[in-house]
Amino acid sequence: MEYVNLLTGFRVDGRRPNEMRQLKGEVGVVARADGSALFEMGNTRVIAAVYGPREVQNKGQQVNSKEALVRCEYRMADFSTGDRRRKPKGDRRSTEISLVIRQTMEASILTHLMPRSQIDIFVQVLQADAGTRAACINAATLALADAGIPMRDIVTSCSAGYLCSTPLLDLNYIEDSAGGPDVTVGILAKMDKVTLLQMDAKLPMDTFETVMELAIEGCKAIANYIREVLLENTKRLECQRG
Ligand code: UDP
Repeated sequence: MEYVNLLTGFRVDGRRPNEMRQLKGEVGVVARADGSALFEMGNTRVIAAVYGPREVQNKGQQVNSKEALVRCEYRMADFSTGDRRRKPKGDRRSTEISLVIRQTMEASILTHLMPRSQIDIFVQVLQADAGTRAACINAATLALADAGIPMRDIVTSCSAGYLCSTPLLDLNYIEDSAGGPDVTVGILAKMDKVTLLQMDAKLPMDTFETVMELAIEGCKAIANYIREVLLENTKRLECQRG
């Protein structure tokens, strides 16, 4: 299959190689949660809900009482994938992604400001079209901000891959399942630090650098978008307060 049209340079869904899918973010979508958000990257749609900081429920899990305990649960809704591949139930992949998201968010949360407390982040995939872990990280950032959790910086994530000798930003499912190498990168946007890097195949060093650079550019664009969403939300809340 031709993933990048040789004549036009367009991808299967009509995007240019360095073009991200359409982004959509919305906060305050789960009434009972302390903070919540919906985040879409094209057809990948996820929801995040944050509870806390609240009292630690299972004291045995608390390693350091001087810092907040951050927990994360990633799940794919049964209806999120159609009949693709495996059943999206509690599997090793979900456990790994939960851990990766928790570690990525922990890099930004000022846990030392919330001793003896717990923050729970639930992320659920409503519609999967690849890049769900990246979308969940972006949703979690919005939900944490919505919950008023103090953070060092905005954390964002994006994937990039390499197909038909072309670096491609933000792969969709067709591109992701083509078997080429891809990376998922997470950054602390303002501090310009990488907090997550996952790669699922080997890449020559120079190609890796180009693909990585592209993913970082994607993360930065998402950070700009997330700032806009948060700003709009603050304005809306100020209007409501009069
Ligand atoms: N996928 C699926 N069923 C599964 C796992 C994955 O249909 O049980 C699809 C889904 O579209 C997902 C994509 O495969 O987004 C890529 O999965 P991967 O494990 O690479 O993680 P992601 O790209 O979602 O972070």
